[in-house]
Amino acid sequence: MDSIVLFGPPGAGKGTQAQRIMESTGLPQVSTGDMLRAAVAAGTATGIEAKRYMDAGQLVPDEVIIALIKDRIQDSDASNGVMFDGFPRTIPQAEALSEITEVSHVIAIEVPDERIVERICGRYTCGSCSAVYHDTFNPVSVEGICDNCGAGEFKRRADDNADTVLSRLGAYHDQTSPLAQWYESKGIFHVIDGDRAIDEITNDILSALK
Ligand code: ADP
Ligand code: AMP
Repeated sequence: MDSIVLFGPPGAGKGTQAQRIMESTGLPQVSTGDMLRAAVAAGTATGIEAKRYMDAGQLVPDEVIIALIKDRIQDSDASNGVMFDGFPRTIPQAEALSEITEVSHVIAIEVPDERIVERICGRYTCGSCSAVYHDTFNPVSVEGICDNCGAGEFKRRADDNADTVLSRLGAYHDQTSPLAQWYESKGIFHVIDGDRAIDEITNDILSALK
């Protein structure tokens, strides 16, 4: 299978859905946000450069992102394609991607702006397996224990606060949403209503991928 792109605003549910369809697609999730957070935590040169953009809710420069992706898709688990989550986010990133690998489906998860702030401000993830939860909409079944791996430590992202979310949404509308038209013109763009129950969205994505 070729690669898949999960497209949509921050908090649309890309990571949540990626984790749920990973088994069906057999493709690894490649999240540029996760890769950047790992680089920040490790204190690499890329992490140090990226952090100021991430803290401000702005996009990290294209050349930094494209270098990360070029490196990642050399890994052996990427030989049959990957599931991109949060990449590409600009036209130059999409152009670079088209030179690196084939994309068969772009799954656009649509969620209105007014939902995004509440989604992002309630997000938390398992510190061990990175499963994604929400205080109200998708909490763990047993308080303090990850449904997926049983661990008991959870994290919240530094940029998941109301101020930064507005900048991130602005970046999405200005720099990322023009990509929709770019992919529509290629006939591989599938729009999914992301303002519904998580299971319903998963079913629609799997149908779109058939
Ligand atoms: P993204 O990867 O697009 O930034 P996430 O998958 O991390 O988004 O989801 C953002 C937040 O919204 C998380 O807290 C997640 O649990 C929650 N969420 C995801 N999908 C839904 C949904 N369909 N309805 C309500 N909340 C959702
Ligand atoms: P995410 O985890 O996808 O919400 O991304 C968190 C932050 O990382 C964003 O607000 C950007 O600062 C940065 N980032 C992630 N992916 C990209 C990308 N493809 N292009 C530019 N910046 C990115």
